[in-house]
Amino acid sequence: MASTQTSVCKLCRREGTKLFLKGARCATSKCAVARRPFPPGVHGPERGSRMTDYGKQLREKQKAKRLYGLSETQFSNYFKASVKMKGDSGVNLVRSLESRLDNAIYRAGFAKSRAAARQIVSHSQVQVNNHKVNIPSFRVKQGDVITVQERKKSKSTWKNLSEEIKSYVAPSWLTVDAANLTFKVTGEPMGEELKQIFEPKLIIEYYSR
Ligand code: SF4
Repeated sequence: MASTQTSVCKLCRREGTKLFLKGARCATSKCAVARRPFPPGVHGPERGSRMTDYGKQLREKQKAKRLYGLSETQFSNYFKASVKMKGDSGVNLVRSLESRLDNAIYRAGFAKSRAAARQIVSHSQVQVNNHKVNIPSFRVKQGDVITVQERKKSKSTWKNLSEEIKSYVAPSWLTVDAANLTFKVTGEPMGEELKQIFEPKLIIEYYSR
């Protein structure tokens, strides 16, 4: 476990920003970015001062990819789909990433990190509209109701959650019923909710070279 935590912290250091990959545990951990604010490796402190436009675009893409825990192929597929949609490709990209089932579970407060949310989904602990879904990339849409499977509610993961998230404020596109371990997708990310720690425009530029 310790090595996993260390490796995710390295990803944050590589991107030079806090990606909060350990979720809520980042608040109580000694953050590696704060302690060593330079990329890992022997030349770490010397790197990063002369970034080209390409380098900046690449780093934004890597940041987003790491934030959502995706492979290069998975991430580039999101880009390809986003440019085919109507409207601003950057906004489409963010909305597509946010609509992943694992992300929605994390945003609803049902998991402390996206990695934990992914595990919840792969272990078949949730249902979407009363159907078991164990695909983390499953795209949720307005009107979908996500709930913890009845027979899983006695598991330690869920036992205290209703109480723990009572005062948690979910994004406006999710309506959470903490007492019943259920949430509904009531819209899509808007305004401030579209702001991310990565710059979607630079990602679009990266893939459009
Ligand atoms: Fe580690 Fe800090 Fe990144 Fe959290 S934000 S994963 S503590 S480096």
